[in-house]
Order: sequence, then C-alpha cells, then structure tokens
Amino acid sequence: MKRAIYPGSFDPVTFGHIDIIKRASEIFDELIVAVLNNSAKRPLFSVDERVNILKEVLKDIPNIKVLSYEGLLVDFAMENGAGVIVRGLRAVTDFEYELQLAQTNSVLNSGVDTIFLTTSLKYAYLSSSTVKEVASYGGDIDKFVPPLVRKLTYEKFGK
Ligand code: ADP
Repeated sequence: MKRAIYPGSFDPVTFGHIDIIKRASEIFDELIVAVLNNSAKRPLFSVDERVNILKEVLKDIPNIKVLSYEGLLVDFAMENGAGVIVRGLRAVTDFEYELQLAQTNSVLNSGVDTIFLTTSLKYAYLSSSTVKEVASYGGDIDKFVPPLVRKLTYEKFGK
C-alpha cells in the first residue's frame, strides 16, 4: 500500500491544487490531503472550513483522505504511514523554497521522501493569494476555483 501526503494551506483550494491531487491520486494507492493549521499566516478560511471545502470538492475521488495537522510535517506523515510527500511546482520561483523544504524534511526524517509534480500549464499562474486578491475586488474567479469555493470566498469578502 503506497500512501502519500499532499500538504498545503489550501486557503482556498484552487484548480491548480485539484489538478495535482487528481494526478497524485492516480500514482498512489492513497493520498492524504493535509491542511496546515497555520494561524500565524492569518488565513481567510479556518482550518475546519478548509478541510470541509476540500472534502466536498474531492468527494468523487475514492482514495483520498482530508486531514489537518500542526507541527512537523514529517512527524505527521510518519504517524499516518505516508512515506512520500507530494508538492507542486509552478515556476522556477517555487523551486528554491521547495528544494530547501524537501531537504530539511529529509534531514529531519530520512524515511520520508518528497516528489514534485509539475503543474499543468493551464494553471501555472494560479495561487490562492491571487484568488483572494481578485475576489476582494469583486473580480471573476470562476476560472480559478470550483463553484463552492467561489461562493464561500465572495461571502468572506462580503461580495
Ligand atoms: P503552502 O502554504 O504550503 O505553499 P499552498 O496551499 O499554497 O500551501 O500550496 C500547496 C502546494 O500546492 C505547494 O506544493 C504549491 O507549490 C502547490 N501549488 C499551489 N498552487 C498550485 C498550482 N496552481 N498548480 C500546481 N501546484 C500548485
């Protein structure tokens, strides 16, 4: 049983994340989508909201589990029997940070490996921060996120 973990803030989840999740779920027997409980980042959505949104938008993919975590990712991965961390790479700007993170995690626990999936060109420009910025000005975000996320994001901004 090959189990992997895809961690992130998902504040909110975008089509770019969903693309990585679908592809990773075809590579591994089980994929844990792990939502970082990061109050320091002052998220738009609470961790429970982000978990519930992910569960709803991913409900048709059978081999996915959505959980939240705080603390060290490698510890959480080990506790859940996941030996592989999946991360998405959009552009060269992601690379340095992601490489450093992967190397740190491998020093912390050599039993956990990181693999990178390159984003589909269609979503390479997309980030949760852009979605929030566009939505805060009432701009159209339907090309970036599923309808449920669009509705809830507009609600947060009183749109
Ligand atoms: P974090 O705060 O951990 O970077 P994010 O929710 O922003 O959390 O991203 C989680 C993962 O998804 C990261 O590996 C990030 O590079 C990747 N990712 C974010 N947006 C996209 C996208 N548009 N296409 C592919 N991967 C993406």
